[in-house]
Amino acid sequence: MIFLKKKGEYISTSFSKTETYADIIPKREEKKITAFVTIIRGCDNMCTFCVVPFTRGREKSRDPYSIIKECKFLFKKGYKEIILLGQNVDSYLWYGGGLKKNFKRKEIKNEEIINFSKLLELVAISVPLMRIRFWTSNPNDMSDNVLNVIKKYINICKHIHLPVQSGSNRILSLMNRKHTYEDYIFLIKKIKNIIPNCSLSCDIITGFCNENENNHNETLNLMNYVKYNFSYMFLYSHRIGTYAYKKLIDNVSLSTKKRRLTEIINLQKTHSYYRKIKYIDSIQDILIEGISTKNIHFFYGRNSGNDIVIFPKKNSKIGDFIKVKITNCTSATLVGLL
Ligand code: SF4
Repeated sequence: MIFLKKKGEYISTSFSKTETYADIIPKREEKKITAFVTIIRGCDNMCTFCVVPFTRGREKSRDPYSIIKECKFLFKKGYKEIILLGQNVDSYLWYGGGLKKNFKRKEIKNEEIINFSKLLELVAISVPLMRIRFWTSNPNDMSDNVLNVIKKYINICKHIHLPVQSGSNRILSLMNRKHTYEDYIFLIKKIKNIIPNCSLSCDIITGFCNENENNHNETLNLMNYVKYNFSYMFLYSHRIGTYAYKKLIDNVSLSTKKRRLTEIINLQKTHSYYRKIKYIDSIQDILIEGISTKNIHFFYGRNSGNDIVIFPKKNSKIGDFIKVKITNCTSATLVGLL
């Protein structure tokens, strides 16, 4: 436990094992389109490159009743979309025995255990006119029940962000990730089987300690198999305090990291284009988020799969749900007509 002295007072900076800050409502954007709702804080996985377990502490799930209350409050305030947020939403777990006695528990029965699939379903039912997204999933915690709930509810977006980090089992093991290449591919097949139209995105780190050319090619192979709709791609650098910082050598040269990152980005661009072009001539349900930065006569919004769509304004306004016919695309954006 660490204490800091401030103006003669001592302040505890240690992580509480129980505090979830459930009733603290964050300040939100004025536009009232999308609101982030935290459902779980911290992370129990100890990926060797990551500072989260040290900066945010152990996993603590938030009271489901306060989550539902906040979602309903956001709907009344005029928000259109909720993103359920956590470092690892799939490991959300709440024991009903801890629910406050004075709540009217219409949705949650006494003593019931609420996992992420149940919470997702409760939120989807509680605010049926809002879009629901969630972020971030972990490949080794995602259950079949979560996939079935996504499929079942029209207001849950058909998009999963599933960080893979590397396609090499050797590197995944050095990263202390709990999944292997084979586990990940098995899960991707299952997702596509249960939700055929589901968009997939991921995080990839290139140039992690000891990554050789063969390991890099394994990542490219995995990308070629999945063909993600989009990815967040990073070049590895040590983070102070992590296991990798203390125990592993950052031994891939900067020029190699940059070259591998360029290869990964270029491949992702071809996959993004491959995915986008499939939308042409389809009708997409779009939530309008704002005015296009490139043309003030156009709005931008997102479809269920989290693709950005640009289209002429015409008889619509920010915050509307509308149907757009996709007529063109780039690797980054869909273009359409109302
Ligand atoms: S990378 Fe994600 S799963 Fe791994 S320790 Fe960090 S927050 Fe947790």
